[in-house]
Amino acid sequence: MQSLTGIPVGSGVVVGRVFVLNDGQRIRAPRRAIDPADVPAELERFESARGVAIEELNGLHKHAATEMGEEAAKVFLFHIGALSDPAIVGPIRQAIEGELVSAEYASAEAIKTLADRFARHPDSTFRSKVSDLEDLSQRLLRHLTGRRAKTLADLEPHTVIVARDLTPSQTAAFDRAKVVAFATDLGGLTSHTAIIARALGLPAVVGLHDLTRHARDGQRVIVDAARGVIVLDPDDASIDAADAADQRARRSRITLHEDAEKPAITRDGVDIALVGNIEFPEEVDSVIADGGAGVGLYRTEFLYLTSDQEPTEEQHTAAYIDTVRRLGGRPLTIRTVDLGADKYTQGRSETPERNPFLGLRSIRYCLQNTEMFRTQLRAILRASAHGPMRIMFPLVTNIAEFRQAKYFLHEAMEDLAEAGEAYDENVPVGMMVEVPAAALQAKSFAREVDFFSIGTNDLVQYTLAVDRINERVAGLYTPIHPAVLKLIRDVSRVGNRGGIPVSCCGESAADPAFAALLIGLGVRTLSVTSSSLPRLKRAVRGLDSKRCERIAQKAIRFDSEADAGTYVRDRVRKLVPEVFDGWSGE
Ligand code: PEP
Ligand code: MG
Repeated sequence: MQSLTGIPVGSGVVVGRVFVLNDGQRIRAPRRAIDPADVPAELERFESARGVAIEELNGLHKHAATEMGEEAAKVFLFHIGALSDPAIVGPIRQAIEGELVSAEYASAEAIKTLADRFARHPDSTFRSKVSDLEDLSQRLLRHLTGRRAKTLADLEPHTVIVARDLTPSQTAAFDRAKVVAFATDLGGLTSHTAIIARALGLPAVVGLHDLTRHARDGQRVIVDAARGVIVLDPDDASIDAADAADQRARRSRITLHEDAEKPAITRDGVDIALVGNIEFPEEVDSVIADGGAGVGLYRTEFLYLTSDQEPTEEQHTAAYIDTVRRLGGRPLTIRTVDLGADKYTQGRSETPERNPFLGLRSIRYCLQNTEMFRTQLRAILRASAHGPMRIMFPLVTNIAEFRQAKYFLHEAMEDLAEAGEAYDENVPVGMMVEVPAAALQAKSFAREVDFFSIGTNDLVQYTLAVDRINERVAGLYTPIHPAVLKLIRDVSRVGNRGGIPVSCCGESAADPAFAALLIGLGVRTLSVTSSSLPRLKRAVRGLDSKRCERIAQKAIRFDSEADAGTYVRDRVRKLVPEVFDGWSGE
């Protein structure tokens, strides 16, 4: 039995079997000559492997479409298309027939030649396909060699995925009928893979450093997402304890859900709007089921993260209208694409940035890729004709950025007006407050924005200089830090004095202790992953805003974040003890 401790993501305790996802295990295909008489059989072998691969990909596509929607599943369509493309299939057949080489060698060489051409192509769309072609080659080779597929396609039930790291799109494609949890060496609480895990309600532990060195396929494992602990080869007593903890967590979730329909109102009668964070339109349904009053953050960049192609204006529009319709009149705050840093641009860039979190990301990226930005803005505006919506820009750091972004929005409005298309002319336009500069300048911004949404995921990392996805400094990443609280207080004050709504949409808003502070600091809208909504509602209903104010005032005066954290958690735990049972976000 061996225990490892990492960063807890989500909640729940599960027992399963390890599946090590080792992307580094490559099958090689050395040149092997065949007899002319064997050509028909070799062609037949290739055809059969191709057929099985297409079938497998269709299955993957279907699973992903059911779990996360058609848009997210598109990542598999390129692979299916490529396996039917004469530019790939033709040269493979010719090599088997003409050069008398094995189907393995012919496949690997033909795909490699195409991948090399793509890698040199001036258009980045082609360059971005290189890794897909490599994947495809490995898939064919696996079927040709009959090796057991080390892919997510043929998992057993109760699988715990163990990997060095996972991309958000890999996580989104997990087959939820089989994958019960995952654990990674890398990652932090607010990494986008962790965010997806929470969106799927999947227990996980990240930042385990060297789990992949210890774990073996098929090994029994406990994933305790409440405490951030992994137990390899657990004994019977540990398994019984894990089962009991899981039962308790389930009961607690059911109890918390009973409040889903009740209003989110504090004991002293203050209304708190509890809304959901989503990455895909389909998540709206769970936000509503979990008692959310709308969507406070739609991370639209996930349209890009799950596809190899840049989305077309129609695809943007369809996704946004779908979201608005699912909300059925409830409010939606849609954020323009927040690409860059750990999302999308680095993997595709020829010269990755040295310091991408301080680089060309979010609104900066949009303002340098204006065609892409305009396309999205037109799509958002079109959807605004279908239901209540607010538009917000991410990572705004200086006033010029906000003005420029608004200028593009007005231009898009003119485009639509000229084309006679409907949109909401009065759509509120706001900004994320996620860099200290924006928080400190809140007064200036207040003259131009319709609302503020505080993004603590980034605000904490930029205020404390702690990379949010780096497990080595995860211990320093703490939202209950007097410096962070002061920034939030200032933004909230400016907002409340000027009649500008202030919300918080960072992951920390789901932490009952931090939520109490936000309420105490005057924030009245909290936006969190849907699975966190029931617990948060229970917390809000058990809190008193005046008490929260006193707790916040005291917390802000501590010299040390450790003392502030201990004080706040102790106080809030006494006020709403039931919401801390099985809570992993501390
Ligand atoms: C944030 O930074 O708090 C936020 C909500 O945005 P994201 O997590 O997408 O960076
Ligand atoms: Mg952010």
